[in-house]
Amino acid sequence: MPAAVVESGVPHGAREGGWLPDCVYTGEKFELGVAFFADALGRITRFSREPADLTSARRLAGQAVLPGLVNTHSHSFQRVLRGRTEQRGRGEPGAGREAQAAVEHRVVARLSGEEVFDVARMAFLEMLLAGVTCVGEFHYLHHQPDGTPWPDANFLSREIIRAAHDVGIRIALLKVAQLRAGFRAEAGSAPARSRTAGAEQFVRELEALRLVVEKEFPADEAWLGAAPDSLAAVPLEAFKAIATYARAQRMRLHTHGATTADESAACLAEFGRTPIALLAEHGLVDKRFTVVDAIHVTDDEVKLLGAARAAVCVCPLSELSAGLAVAPAEKLLAAGAGLALGSDTNTQIDLLAEARLLEYRLRAPGRTRAAIAPDAATAVFHAATVTGARSLGSTGGALEVGRPADFFTVNLADPSIAGADAGSLLANIVFALERRAIRDVWVGARQRLANGRHVSHGPIVGRFVDLQKRLWEA
Ligand SMILES: [Zn+2]
Repeated sequence: MPAAVVESGVPHGAREGGWLPDCVYTGEKFELGVAFFADALGRITRFSREPADLTSARRLAGQAVLPGLVNTHSHSFQRVLRGRTEQRGRGEPGAGREAQAAVEHRVVARLSGEEVFDVARMAFLEMLLAGVTCVGEFHYLHHQPDGTPWPDANFLSREIIRAAHDVGIRIALLKVAQLRAGFRAEAGSAPARSRTAGAEQFVRELEALRLVVEKEFPADEAWLGAAPDSLAAVPLEAFKAIATYARAQRMRLHTHGATTADESAACLAEFGRTPIALLAEHGLVDKRFTVVDAIHVTDDEVKLLGAARAAVCVCPLSELSAGLAVAPAEKLLAAGAGLALGSDTNTQIDLLAEARLLEYRLRAPGRTRAAIAPDAATAVFHAATVTGARSLGSTGGALEVGRPADFFTVNLADPSIAGADAGSLLANIVFALERRAIRDVWVGARQRLANGRHVSHGPIVGRFVDLQKRLWEA
């Protein structure tokens, strides 16, 4: 039985509404016996220990409150591939990324506009179930299945945003440009559904989309970022043109980079520099810049990213599932770069699992605990919240006065974290919480999940099941 979902935490006509959990994470630590309040716009107005406030706040007994997680890098449609690329043919030594890409290509070629919407809703629902309240959707499906543009070039971008709105999650739509199939490939060789004719056209479309999104959604519910897919897909001059537009609009700039050693070598061969060094040389690496993966970065590139206060988004589950190495996250953090986390291929959707895997992948004999920072749980939770929000340009990421009341609650009696005290609770949650323990999720003081259920849970999952049947039976 789905529990009744309260539309807003702030009673109709009231100035503010409040919550009183057993404890609340206010950054660095959990505080006990504190109520917090939000106004009718969904912004946190104050924290209080006043007896009258403790009485008037809605009691969340047996629960802890944490800031909503920020999933900085997702390709929602790849949710259809889950569990479908884990086999290889007899005698095939290893499937590799090419085999994965071939399956993706076959399936992607068939998704209708309505299906792109349905799979996005499924992925976004699963994110809410995992405590995620804001997603950066790195969106590169732009055209009809046969590659013909839709009458509105931004149709699928708008469908993705509509899916996020429908489910109730904040979204930074990172519109992706792909001009070619790889380094030194000719212009126009990118896959048919994602191909962009050129930087100028891309910027025109992004500007048209910006005007629509600004008109239809509050600024912190849905907004845009520019995403030249990678230097392999967007040659330097086009990359610069897109970055110039993004900077003028104060948009975030996201790109995949330094994912494999081969890619860095190909970039060096074409442009005389490895990816981050090249982008930095042209002034594109700054605090609004995020590079996704950053696995094969040189020590100099680590310094460049740190000095620029740029962000690096790592996606440990997807990277590990693709047989990739791990980014030198501890060096990047020490250099001053921001570290964010993403679910990328959505092979699983569990941002806390991403956080714990990142720390574990950095461990080695002689470095068996807290490899990323002296306090590993705090460092990776910061990545999953504060830095992710900064990378996407989101107003969320922390429970502070003036920020939106975006949060999730966990059941303190859940067997996976039972017995934790205030000092060990965050490490219990980061390293052991099972998703089942996530109870309620609120976005802008509006309840999206009650007792682990979304009000549209049944229809969203049902439509996705039907879609998978159609997609894989044919
Ligand atoms: Zn990606």
